[in-house]
Amino acid sequence: MKTKTVAKKTAARNTPAARPFTYKNRTLHCDQVPLTTLADQYGTPLYIYSASQISQRFQLFQQAFDARPHSVCYAVKANSSLAILRLLGRQGAGFDIVSGGELERVRRAHKPALKKVVFSGVGKQAWEIDTALKSNILQFNVESEQELDLLAARAQALKTRARFALRVNPDVFAETHPYISTGLSEHKFGIAITQARAIYRRAARSRWLEPYGVSVHIGSQIRKVDPFAAALERVTSLVAELRRDGRDIRTIDAGGGLGIDYSDAPFDAPHQVDRYAAALAKGLANETAHLLLEPGRFLVAQAGALLTRVLVVKKNGTKTFIITDAAMNDLIRPALYHAHHEIVPVRQPSSKSTITADIVGPVCESGDFFARDRAIASVKPGDLVALLDAGAYGLSLSSNYNSRPRPAEVLVEGEKVTLARRRETMRDLLAPERLN
Ligand SMILES: *Cc1c(COP(=O)(O)O)cnc(C)c1O
Repeated sequence: MKTKTVAKKTAARNTPAARPFTYKNRTLHCDQVPLTTLADQYGTPLYIYSASQISQRFQLFQQAFDARPHSVCYAVKANSSLAILRLLGRQGAGFDIVSGGELERVRRAHKPALKKVVFSGVGKQAWEIDTALKSNILQFNVESEQELDLLAARAQALKTRARFALRVNPDVFAETHPYISTGLSEHKFGIAITQARAIYRRAARSRWLEPYGVSVHIGSQIRKVDPFAAALERVTSLVAELRRDGRDIRTIDAGGGLGIDYSDAPFDAPHQVDRYAAALAKGLANETAHLLLEPGRFLVAQAGALLTRVLVVKKNGTKTFIITDAAMNDLIRPALYHAHHEIVPVRQPSSKSTITADIVGPVCESGDFFARDRAIASVKPGDLVALLDAGAYGLSLSSNYNSRPRPAEVLVEGEKVTLARRRETMRDLLAPERLN
C-alpha cells in the first residue's frame, strides 16, 4: 500500500535522498510542519516545497563535481519561484534561462547571479538578447546560424562582445517521453554537431562574437546515464577540434536532464548524482574546461508536493472518481506526459484496504486526470491528499484554464513556513482584460 511505503522508506533512510514528506503521528508532514496546518492556513490547492531538500540536492551536485572547475546553473523553467531562485542563488548557483522573463526573475531574486546565467532556447528575440547583453550574462547558448547573426548584430548595436556556445545536437538517443527528448537530429533543438566547426570558424571572424563554449542538452527525465556520456564524448572531441582551429573554448555545458523516480521505490539521490558525475567524467576524458551543469527537475521535483482537498467521490457505472480541488491547470504533467505521481492521504489510514479510482480535477476535459485506476486508501469529501514529487514542472507549467486562480506556494524549512506566492484572486485573473 502506497502510504505505508512512504512511511517505511523515510523511516529507513533519513538521508538527503529521502523525500521530505513523511508521516508523523499519522499525519503527513513537510519537514516539521503538518500538512493539515498548511491547509488551514493557506487553503488548497497548495504547492509545498521543502527548502532543506532543495539545498541538499544542490549541495549533492556541488560535491559530486568538486574535483573539477564547474558551475551548477539551475534550470529556471523547472520551478521559477523567486523564493527558490533566491535560495539557490545565495548558495552560489548560476541559472539556465530560456526567456527574458526568466532573466528578470533571476535579477529580482539574486542580482549577483546574473553573471552566472546561461541563456538557452531556440527562438530568442532581439529584446531578450539586448537585456541579457546589458546584464553581462555568462554565455548565450546559440541554437541556429540565424540566431548567431542576430546576436552579432545586437552586440554591435550595444558595442559589446557576446560570449557564445553553440548548442550542438549530438544525435544521441535518450529514453524518455517523446515530448521531452531533444538530442536527436529530428528534434528542433541545437545545431547538427557536424556543422558546428564551420560555424565557429565563421563566427570567429566577427569582432562582436566571442566563441566561448560548447553546449549540449539531450532531454529531460533521463534515468540511464550512458546517453549523457555518449553526448559529452562527441562534444569533447568537437572541443579538441575547435582548439586545433585556434578557438579559445573555456566552457563545456553538459545541460540538464537527470531524471528522478516518480514511483514510491526507494530513491538514492547521492548515488544517482555520483553515477551521473561518473558518466560525465567518462565523456570528458582529459578535458578540463569549466563544466556547466543545468539540472532542473533533479533539484526541485522531490522537494515539492501539491496539496489538494477531495471535493466529491462518485461512481459512474463500475468506475469510482475522486474529484479534487486541484486540476490539470495546476499540475499538467499527468495530462501532458502521462506522468505518474504518487498520491497519498494526509491522514494516514489505519486500515490497509484500498479502493481503485481515477483521481481527477474539476476541469471540463477528460484529460483532466492525476491518476487512472489507481489503488488508493479510501477517502471521503473534505479529506486532504498530496500529489508527491510535484516540485518541478508543476506551477511553472500551470495555467488559468477554466478561469481558475492559480494555487499559493509555501516554502518550508524545518518548522518555519514562508509564503512564496499568494493565491491568485479574481482581480489578478481579470486584471489584463478590457471591456470597451
Ligand atoms: C529544460 C532544460 C534543462 C533542465 O532539464 P531538467 O530535466 O529539468 O534537468 C536544462 N537545460 C536546458 C537547455 C533545458 O531546456
